[in-house]
Amino acid sequence: MSSGDRAAQNYSYTHLSAGDLLRAERAREGSEFGQLIDNYIKQGRIVPVAITINLLRKAMEETMQKDDKKFRFLIDGFPRNEDNLTGWNTVMVDKADVKFVLFFDCSNEVCIDRCLERGKSSGRTDDNRESLEKRIQTYLQSTRPIIELYEKHGKVRTVDASRSVDKVFADVKAVLDKEG
Ligand code: AMP
Repeated sequence: MSSGDRAAQNYSYTHLSAGDLLRAERAREGSEFGQLIDNYIKQGRIVPVAITINLLRKAMEETMQKDDKKFRFLIDGFPRNEDNLTGWNTVMVDKADVKFVLFFDCSNEVCIDRCLERGKSSGRTDDNRESLEKRIQTYLQSTRPIIELYEKHGKVRTVDASRSVDKVFADVKAVLDKEG
């Protein structure tokens, strides 16, 4: 179970992963975006925000419709670039309050090794060295500057994610206990 899932389970957050939502949309029969999402994911590129933000908004609305006490979300893998941030600010700014960004900090080598290990059983089309190298480039060029932006606003809580799952989760717990 990922730290996101564990945090959600322990703290009444609903864990929504942008990547999971995109993969579900790719697999949905009749989706007009399936092929496009497939290409972006294989290339490790960021899917256009109009698609991602709608999936996120819908998932959040559906969760709250089912249970109005579930209004706290841990959104995993978003915003990943400037386009994502602009989309969020346009669509969600008056609907949701961003408390902080949990930044799982880890070296590129460790990330690649973990994803290659995951690739043995994940069936993901991007858990291979070629896609992972591209994803690292996307991260450095597009995502890192967004984290820095949130950092300037004092919104980033950094966790050293190079350690074991239990140690990482202990740090996540400490952040959530303090301000979650
Ligand atoms: P992940 O499941 O977070 O590892 O994401 C896998 C892939 O899904 C990424 O490499 C992107 O191609 C796509 N993706 C995930 N999150 C986003 C996002 N916020 N915006 C656009 N594309 C995304």
